[in-house]
Amino acid sequence: MEKIKCLIIGSGPAGYTAAIYAARANMSPIVYTGMEPGGQLMLTTEVENFPGYPQGVQGPQLMEDLKGQAERYGTEIRYEYISKVDFSGDTHKITTDSGHEIEANAVIIATGASARWLGIESEKRLMNKGVSACAVCDGFFFRGQEVAIVGGGDTAAEEAIYLSKMCSTVHMLVRRDELRASRYMAEKVASTGNIVMHWNTEILEVQGQEVVDGLKVINNKTKEETNLTVTGLFVAIGHKPNTDIFKNFLDLDQVGYIKTIPGTTKTNIEGVFACGDVQDSVYRQAVTAAGTGCMAALDTERYLVKKGIE
Ligand code: NAP
Repeated sequence: MEKIKCLIIGSGPAGYTAAIYAARANMSPIVYTGMEPGGQLMLTTEVENFPGYPQGVQGPQLMEDLKGQAERYGTEIRYEYISKVDFSGDTHKITTDSGHEIEANAVIIATGASARWLGIESEKRLMNKGVSACAVCDGFFFRGQEVAIVGGGDTAAEEAIYLSKMCSTVHMLVRRDELRASRYMAEKVASTGNIVMHWNTEILEVQGQEVVDGLKVINNKTKEETNLTVTGLFVAIGHKPNTDIFKNFLDLDQVGYIKTIPGTTKTNIEGVFACGDVQDSVYRQAVTAAGTGCMAALDTERYLVKKGIE
């Protein structure tokens, strides 16, 4: 079994920032990137609100910069994912997907959150064949076409507006009779001419053999079923924290986010810290993730010093 001081799981802004601080504090961190190296920012284009980039920066470039900065101070980055953890002992045991076993004095969890799906069979079958969870990544392929977006939160509103700039019509399917999105975003949606609202509407089926060619929807008040002719469906119904492998050991909230002691990144297990979106359902920004990544490394350093681990 490989013995290390500090293991970081996840490679978004939280994981890499934790790595920068941990490496500079001589903790010789090892980062396991997970299945989506770089995290959610790899799926975005222009990031305009990350401090320090007055002209904006492309999401993948920002992640490359953070990774380079972590490596510069000696972080080891491994492109694999962790499939099992055992936090029952004094040190923490971690198993990678290839079966490699590691014993770490401290673990920093930065596994982020992933898009939620409707969970219907046809959605899965037509995934990446017209079904997408990222308008910014895939909207380009639907230029001039009629598409639908499901969801009523800020993400759905933002993506509907984004799509309206390149698609002929955007059908916005909302399961209630109001949006969850902020008033500002709701007003922006309402004032966009080619966004058509469908209230109290749910998707029964995504239609199409090889690619999406329509949707069967139902009005959940009148029970009326109709077909919508669209070539794309964008799913924007929120995110799920990536905490499945930790749930037997860590305290999670009702939605599955890791609970941390307020003002710290400490979890209920000594020597296990959580940062970034995996423990934050409120702010969910690259810069806040990076901020908590820094906190996690500082909390880890103090923990190791207290334990007398040099
Ligand atoms: P969200 O706020 O949780 O909204 C999810 C939306 O999807 C809700 O309208 C929900 O409907 C709907 N939904 C959930 N499950 C569904 C299902 N099975 N079928 C149909 N609809 C379903 O998620 P989000 O929009 O991703 O936003 C997450 C957080 O990030 C929020 O705090 C948000 O304010 C923030 N955010 C902010 C910005 C911004 O400020 N520019 C941009 C993006 C996100 P119900 O309302 O009926 O539950």
